[in-house]
Amino acid sequence: MAETRSTCPYCGVGCGVVIAHEAGAITGVRGDPDHPANFGRLCTKGSTLHLTATPVLLQTARLHRPMARTQRGAPLAPIGWDTALDRVADRLAATITDHGPDAVGFYLSGQLLTEDYHVFNKLAKGLIGSNNVDTNSRLCMSSAVSGYKSSLGADAPPACYDDLALARTVFITGSNMAWAHPVLFRRLEDARAARPDMKLVVVDPRRTETAAVADLHLAIQPGTDVMLHHAMLHIMLAEGLHDAAWIAAHTNGFEALRERVRDLTPARAARICGVPETDIVQAARWFAGQSTDGGRFPTLSLYCQGLNQSSSGTDKNTTLINLHLTTGQIGQPGAGPLSLTGQPNAMGGREVGGLATLLSGHRDLGNPEHRAEVARLWGVTDVPARPGKAAVQMFEAAADGEIRALWIACTNPAQSLPDQAMVRRALERCEFVVLQEAYRHTATTPYADLVLPASSWGEKDGSVTNSERRISRVRPAIDAPGLARHDWLIARDVAQRLEARLPSRRTPESAGRSMFDFRTPESVWLEHREMTRGRDLDITGLDWAALDRAPAQWPCPQGQTTGTARLYTDGRFVTGDGRARFSAPAPRGPAESCDDDFPLALTSGRLRDQWHGMSRTGTLGRLLAHTPEPALQMHRRDLERRGLTGGDLVRVRTRRGELVLPVQASDELAEAQVHLAMHWGSEVLGGAGSAGVNTLTQPICCPSSGQPELKHSAAQVEAVDLP
Ligand code: SF4
Repeated sequence: MAETRSTCPYCGVGCGVVIAHEAGAITGVRGDPDHPANFGRLCTKGSTLHLTATPVLLQTARLHRPMARTQRGAPLAPIGWDTALDRVADRLAATITDHGPDAVGFYLSGQLLTEDYHVFNKLAKGLIGSNNVDTNSRLCMSSAVSGYKSSLGADAPPACYDDLALARTVFITGSNMAWAHPVLFRRLEDARAARPDMKLVVVDPRRTETAAVADLHLAIQPGTDVMLHHAMLHIMLAEGLHDAAWIAAHTNGFEALRERVRDLTPARAARICGVPETDIVQAARWFAGQSTDGGRFPTLSLYCQGLNQSSSGTDKNTTLINLHLTTGQIGQPGAGPLSLTGQPNAMGGREVGGLATLLSGHRDLGNPEHRAEVARLWGVTDVPARPGKAAVQMFEAAADGEIRALWIACTNPAQSLPDQAMVRRALERCEFVVLQEAYRHTATTPYADLVLPASSWGEKDGSVTNSERRISRVRPAIDAPGLARHDWLIARDVAQRLEARLPSRRTPESAGRSMFDFRTPESVWLEHREMTRGRDLDITGLDWAALDRAPAQWPCPQGQTTGTARLYTDGRFVTGDGRARFSAPAPRGPAESCDDDFPLALTSGRLRDQWHGMSRTGTLGRLLAHTPEPALQMHRRDLERRGLTGGDLVRVRTRRGELVLPVQASDELAEAQVHLAMHWGSEVLGGAGSAGVNTLTQPICCPSSGQPELKHSAAQVEAVDLP
């Protein structure tokens, strides 16, 4: 038996795993005791990884060979790799020649490795000359990106996991960390056990497992976070809990914020947020952390989709960061705003600029100097200034006929994007859909003209970055099944074919050489590393061998031998003048208000033991046992009002569509709220063209981040009359 160290492919905690394998088969998995994210621990999902990669499942659940249809609606039939790659290159080249580079879109995934992302991004922005590259990470963390950039000047979470043990107050908002980031939550439990004076504040409309153990739970009305943050700041100012000297030395824009919160009293916020005034006051005092001797106890905030998945997601992020800046709670041990990434490599995708609005190395698409730098490093004449389409926009453009070819890799938009009626129209109208997938069937497969088999966890080789900026190696223990190939290799091979089919965009100095002369994941990573030189995420002090020895946190510039645990320790930020920026947005409610016709606020979220569309976790009875079936959760009094009892079938309807499913009484929710897990799709849930909860959700996005408002839709629920 042999053992291979790698990284868990599920959430952004980024736990190290040790894979046991024998004779080409994975036989077990355990937590890596030396990995600084988890020190040997794994959650239920991580500890059952080996069971999702048994020889039987590799044989039955995985896609083994390229397949294509002769026409839409015809069955998929096997084709050879060369034929498949030529066909993709031919169709993309023809689309670009006939309709321009922006007629092509790439929709990627936070589960791809950094090396995969880099090659795709270079293929789209460098070779083709289109910024239409986006990712399902848009659905989970783009508001955190725009929040950091707006407030601190760079998309860089300033704190780290070790701060959990050093914080006096931990402020969790919009995150059911106990289920979505379980190993990190265990670290928080350890820290609380060691420090009985620690205060845990949880802000969440639902009384989740995380909220249930808090010292203070603020069960706010969905979408009222900005009002809460402003009211907390109002209290800090009224009680002199702010750090005036720090604000004066390190920030801009405080007076506008002071003016904004002047009338946003806790009493007013209590009415709007639906929580007691005294709780808002208590939360503000604990957050400020002022001690009786004039010192300050550190406060760490942790946040996730509850802030991000909102039409005002950026405002929710920046107003939370305001609280840190107001009290100087940043750049210190135990203090700072630490957004949690949902996926294992959402952070790596951000580093390589794998979003329509970003460029490699945390550069900005809107900055001509940044575009010129990237073009020079890649040896192309230019990177186009035209903005690319963010996830929802990309599919809207496909539905409108503007985007004619889509290449989808490692994600399932026919289940995971909001407003599925629109998404499915887009996939039907699109003239050419390529799906690069590890699994034999997802909700997106029926729309694909061509499917390309990709390698998966236990087989892949490269790197990922977790929520605390820590880069870890992903290593292969076994070969991919059948003819499946690594994602970056597939992208490289199509890119090299496209180089022969499209007019060259190479500079005279670099003409004649392929832009994609990559032989190994390390060769891709080295090019990515060079893109970070001199940037806030500089990793030029690392090499592949160093990463092989131990995971490292960026930045790690040349001359530095270890990474960096905390950012902004000197109070200087990555803005032009080094000062952080307060923002002062007016509080806004959700885009779609509840009314007499649609009186219920629908939220969606993760379960403890499932992952995304369940391609992997849905294969295990042990994981399904936690929650075997989907059910709409609803408050008991709302059930009674409708004459319903738990287990009854109900029709839940929004302005986009409807689902039929069982209802379940829930003690977690307030009245007038309903909740549905995000994992089940059309295979289980009823309703015309059902795609699970995203049949119901809306495509309204935060104007700054492009992240859709998945956490709030106005809904109605009625009993289904059985014949
Ligand atoms: Fe994997 Fe996240 Fe669980 Fe760690 S906490 S084992 S990364 S799913």
